[in-house]
Amino acid sequence: MNVVALSGGVGAGKFLRGLVRVVEPRHITAIVNTGDDMTLHGLHISPDLDSVMYWLSGLADRDRGWGRAGESFRALDEVRRLEGPSWFGLGDLDLATHLVRTHLLSEGKTLSEATAQLTDALGISVRVVPMSDDPVPTMVHAVADEGEGMYMHFQVYWVQRGARDQVKAVRYEGGEEAAPAPGVGEALAGADAILICPSNPVASIRPILAVSGIRDHLETARRGGTGVVGVSPIIGGAPLRGMADRLVPAVGLEVSAFGAAAAYPGLLTGWVVDERDGDMAPRIRDELGLRVATTDSVMADDDDAERVARVALELAAG
Ligand code: GDP
Ligand code: CA
Repeated sequence: MNVVALSGGVGAGKFLRGLVRVVEPRHITAIVNTGDDMTLHGLHISPDLDSVMYWLSGLADRDRGWGRAGESFRALDEVRRLEGPSWFGLGDLDLATHLVRTHLLSEGKTLSEATAQLTDALGISVRVVPMSDDPVPTMVHAVADEGEGMYMHFQVYWVQRGARDQVKAVRYEGGEEAAPAPGVGEALAGADAILICPSNPVASIRPILAVSGIRDHLETARRGGTGVVGVSPIIGGAPLRGMADRLVPAVGLEVSAFGAAAAYPGLLTGWVVDERDGDMAPRIRDELGLRVATTDSVMADDDDAERVARVALELAAG
């Protein structure tokens, strides 16, 4: 059985650790958001690719969510002392990932090729691919204090400014010109199930769908009978962690298990909601026409993640 998972960062990483217990890892392709990517210190930063790699290889910091366990931040402290940009947390071990990736890119390798080398080196059997080798930055139209506002890179809005600005719009720049990374179309066409990880719909999943052709591949697969099932990242009306509640309403979606499903009109066949949101199931069924399954979807450990993955796969199988 071949499975494709559309992935953001932390929510996706946790979920994938469960999925690899149910499906042979080499039959899983994770298509990962790169809308958050940026260059800082001359380094190519791919936060969601790194989260997925670190979680799958067991190197992730489970409590902090992002970055590596046992991390230290000596280099970043020194960057701060030297008055360099220190707002983006890059740990000492994490810096090595960024050095190798940036080196490979500077040699003319694509982001997909660099990612393949990194995942091979970490012993990851899941095929981890960026959504595109072309840049598709997520840009947020934010109004800071007074004034007309401006488009800023997602990471500036989210990390540097702590999501404090009012958001007017979100744009996935260059999506129409970008090509899906090699293998993305084939993986979607050959999938027996397509899963949408519990990731931020606006910051993580919609950027993937903005890459030209990816939405069409999904629609074609769905029409051909492939189950397309997502897991809600919103539990009890709030993100489990993070600031999704700041960004989701800005694009006209409600912050709920219903609203997250409504972010993907015409793409899904099913939606997994947390048992705390069981009362929303009828609305999701009736208004969105989806099959709904409920489970305890808080993934505190890999056993939890495995259960959520099984529920999603069963729902996808119909
Ligand atoms: P980021 O790119 O690292 O911010 O991560 P994602 O976009 O993948 O994920 C952020 C979302 O993951 C948040 O909305 C969280 O609510 C959701 N999330 C994190 N952990 C869990 C979990 O254990 N269960 C569920 N259902 N959602 C989770
Ligand atoms: Ca992210």
